[in-house]
Amino acid sequence: MPSKPKPVRRLVIVLGDQLNADSAVFDEFDKDRDAIWMAEVPAESTHVWTHKARIALFLSAMRHYRDQRRAEGFRLDYRQLDDRGCRETLGEELVAACKRLKPEELAMVEAGEHRVQQQMEAAADEAGLPLEVHTDRHFYSTRDEFADHAEGRKQLRLEFWYRELRKKHNVLLDNAGKPEGGKWNYDADNRGTFGKKGPQDVPEPPTFRVHGPTKEVLELVASRFANHPGSLENFNWPTTPGQAERALEHFIATRLPRFGDYQDAMWTDQPFLYHAMLSSSLNLKLLDPRLVVAKAEQAYRSGHAPLSAAEGFIRQILGWREYVRGIYFLHMPEYLERNELGATAPLPEFYWTGETDMRCLSQAIGQTLEHGYAHHIQRLMVTGLFSLLLGVDPKAVHEWYLAVYVDAVEWVELPNTLGMSQYGDGGVMASKPYCATGKYVQRMSNYCTACRYNPAKATGEDACPFTTLYWDFLARNQKRLKGNNRMTMQLKNVERKDADDLAEIREQAERLKAELA
Ligand code: FAD
Ligand code: SF4
Repeated sequence: MPSKPKPVRRLVIVLGDQLNADSAVFDEFDKDRDAIWMAEVPAESTHVWTHKARIALFLSAMRHYRDQRRAEGFRLDYRQLDDRGCRETLGEELVAACKRLKPEELAMVEAGEHRVQQQMEAAADEAGLPLEVHTDRHFYSTRDEFADHAEGRKQLRLEFWYRELRKKHNVLLDNAGKPEGGKWNYDADNRGTFGKKGPQDVPEPPTFRVHGPTKEVLELVASRFANHPGSLENFNWPTTPGQAERALEHFIATRLPRFGDYQDAMWTDQPFLYHAMLSSSLNLKLLDPRLVVAKAEQAYRSGHAPLSAAEGFIRQILGWREYVRGIYFLHMPEYLERNELGATAPLPEFYWTGETDMRCLSQAIGQTLEHGYAHHIQRLMVTGLFSLLLGVDPKAVHEWYLAVYVDAVEWVELPNTLGMSQYGDGGVMASKPYCATGKYVQRMSNYCTACRYNPAKATGEDACPFTTLYWDFLARNQKRLKGNNRMTMQLKNVERKDADDLAEIREQAERLKAELA
């Protein structure tokens, strides 16, 4: 008979995106009296219809973490998804673990998703135990620091927060404490396109061996979640801190120098281009953002990467990543319900299959299903733009993004989706809706050359649906957007449009919406 586990003093909860060994929750960890608790539960893969690769990444990284911690002498209570009697939710598993292990108290680092934090607190209440919640020091800034920054400001903008963090953490500053090169932001240099020749010599991403827990989990996910979206065939994401650091080194050595120039560009059958592919490693906390930023700064100082590339990259991590987290925690839980534009259309079915004759969408969604990855402009200005123009319910859009990307955790996904891409928050994240015609896609990619639609046309059989819906979007939201100075030009253009032409466009838009619904 196996001996009954000893009661523990403190049970330390580690969630699937909290895999940093130096987390604050371990500061006073006593290996003789405390234990780590982790659980894989079905609900975390099904509360949104999760991509197989995202499930596999989380489970594999968790199992690697478990094995490492055990090897270091930590006591771990770990529930596997394929264990007999595995309960549906994290809350149920935690209550059961408390009954079994009889801890005196629980501890955790604040969860990256409001829903999960609520569940942990409810489970602690049910078990009648105190729950100590620690600040997440993986990030440069705390939630309170962001709240202080936001206090009294009518409008929040990335730029001010980013500068504050650059100064505070002495990143890319010269000896006088001024920004390197004299400017804080090289965004204007980050919008290059590939021209007709297309991208040249794009480095292959590094590959990661599938073994041990990864192999085990890929098999489990393939059989248990066979009907979930996405493929596991190309699974190639770092699942350990060692692999994540290798991915970082590879990016700095091969892709960072051109990251700046081509950050916004897209190209057929080129899913990764010069992007870092580090978001999942950062969000699971396999990788420390300070290390990532330091390596990028070092690449600039050593002359390996131009300032526009290093600054452009650092801005994403020290700037955007910290900023969206601040927004999420400042506004949750009501943020999730926001729908400034009153959008109610359902998400088109092709978002789950990639089967559409719109080339840009079939490319962006196709690679998403294949890899669980699309880069920022594909997310914002292809899939995000189309659902914005179509008027899809922002919550449905949010659930799709949360489900299909390997790096999706709600604190980062929700403000980017509901806020930045859908304008559902009415301007908290972005000062205006990111709306454009198909001509934007044409300028930034080669997708339109092989598409049956014409980005310059808003009506007719070959009219680009983005272009048709763009005018319809402006016309239907004219009143709502009127007070926004940054929309003046676009709204003027719609006002100037010939009434008959606009009516024809809007009829075509209605037919399109009906087809897609
Ligand atoms: P790179 O383009 O190489 O950028 C480097 C790093 O900067 C990223 O790894 C990421 O950590 C950070 N970063 C870049 N842009 C942002 C941003 N807008 N917000 C926060 N961090 C940023 N990012 C996620 O990590 N998880 C998500 O669930 C997510 N959902 C998104 C949904 C929408 C609608 C949009 C428009 C963007 C979303 N992003 C999300 C932001 C961004 O698209 C991804 O971080 C990026 O594409 C990840 O690829 P990469 O590592 O190659 O990034
Ligand atoms: Fe996309 Fe329109 Fe270009 Fe086709 S023509 S690829 S639908 S933007």
